[in-house]
Amino acid sequence: MTAKSDRSKARGGLDPENWENFRARAHALLDAAIDRMQGAEQGPVWTPLPEEDKCHYDIPLPRDGMGSDAVARQLEQLLPYGVGNTHPRFFGWVHGTGTPGNMLAEIVASAMNANLGGRDHGAIYVEKQVLAWVRDMFGFPDGASGLIVSGTSIATIVALKAARDRALAWTSRANGVGGANLVGYTSDQTHSCVARAFDILGLGSGALRKLPTNTSFQIDLNALCAQIAEDRAAGLQPFVLIGTAGAVNMGAIDDLSALADIARDEQLWLHVDGAFGALGVLSDRVRPKLSGLERADSLAFDFHKWMHVTYDAGCVLIRDEADHRRAFSERPDYLKGATRGLAAGNPWPVEYGPELSRGFRALKVWTQIAEHGTDRLGAMVDRNCAQAAALGQMVESAADMELMAPVALNICCFRAVRSGLDETGLDALNEEIVIRLQEQGIAAPSMTKLHGRTAIRVNITNHRTRDEDIEILFSAVRRIADEITA
Ligand SMILES: *Cc1c(COP(=O)(O)O)cnc(C)c1O
Repeated sequence: MTAKSDRSKARGGLDPENWENFRARAHALLDAAIDRMQGAEQGPVWTPLPEEDKCHYDIPLPRDGMGSDAVARQLEQLLPYGVGNTHPRFFGWVHGTGTPGNMLAEIVASAMNANLGGRDHGAIYVEKQVLAWVRDMFGFPDGASGLIVSGTSIATIVALKAARDRALAWTSRANGVGGANLVGYTSDQTHSCVARAFDILGLGSGALRKLPTNTSFQIDLNALCAQIAEDRAAGLQPFVLIGTAGAVNMGAIDDLSALADIARDEQLWLHVDGAFGALGVLSDRVRPKLSGLERADSLAFDFHKWMHVTYDAGCVLIRDEADHRRAFSERPDYLKGATRGLAAGNPWPVEYGPELSRGFRALKVWTQIAEHGTDRLGAMVDRNCAQAAALGQMVESAADMELMAPVALNICCFRAVRSGLDETGLDALNEEIVIRLQEQGIAAPSMTKLHGRTAIRVNITNHRTRDEDIEILFSAVRRIADEITA
């Protein structure tokens, strides 16, 4: 390293030595990123990182930086190796698809480098606006509070902590849960993040009762009421009821109105996990199925799934702002607010969740809603449901396919059937089909078990999926099944 570059580095901190070069590199990289999104439907759905490229990232901790040119090259090289969820035939798990508009929001958020723990600055007002829109979207009262977080897993912890602390008259904040006998209720279709929240909150995952479901995979209300009565008789303290709006396996939506009635009669906190399904409120087709959601005490959902906001962005909404703040507010002197100056803008977001420093996730959410509007975002939800239903019909009218669960929303679970195979053989066949679809880059569904049997699970939370993509998937499943059994 020359003496001159030593001096200029000391002068410039970590900023570029030559801004013109930086600008040119940034423009080229932006072009490469836009090319990647514009060509999202080209090439295989999933492109694993080649063995020879893995070593580029497997280097010893650099004491001397490799420089911005080399880094820019590596950034560009990484672009094709995502999980595939920008592709129109990505149907695995529940992944959102992202939008080009969100890239711009991320650039601005990065340039501002805002910290949304609190204080009085522009970014805070953007988050407030997003939360106001969200209250409106879900029919929550004006006073309801919320927080933008990384996803539903964290949103669930935030909501259940408020529920837990209220149930224990807030003594748990200082004293812990001690010998509390709190128990909560949900269905056996619930996402694993709910039991994990019980674990993290010191209640133990065993305190979550997972009730059986009916033929539509909705929580069995009779079993629920019986379990609550049994627990009360045993001296336990029921405190929360967790409904699901869009269960991961096949998209079931619990009867939320009935759950709201039970919660009211039993004096339980009603929490709804609406990670992807809650955004069905934007679709005329789905909205009626979500009736009762507006009566929940809290809601956890994701922007990064069915609203296609770039990862990561989720949200917790809590009906009673005072309950929410009381579960988290704890401001030491150095974080005290003020009525004027930079420390104003009370209450601060830090009073509503576990994090102090928080990035500007709100901007990409604001951008997505502002750019497209809720009608268009809802139309994407609608189209995905129609595509799942169409796939369900193709399966039902094919003698060599079997529908494994009713298509409740945007998920179609089915399997290929071939004569001469017993259940174990069918499980193996369908597992192999899913892996070959992924490996051949044709489509990326995932797998699940329904009633103990392997199903090809096609989840469509994808604004790029066209109807032809469903047909391509369907014929590829048939072809691969034939190849395997030939
Ligand atoms: C994805 C999902 C979660 C977890 O959300 P993250 O954003 O991944 O933390 C919880 N519940 C349901 C129903 C989900 O689909």
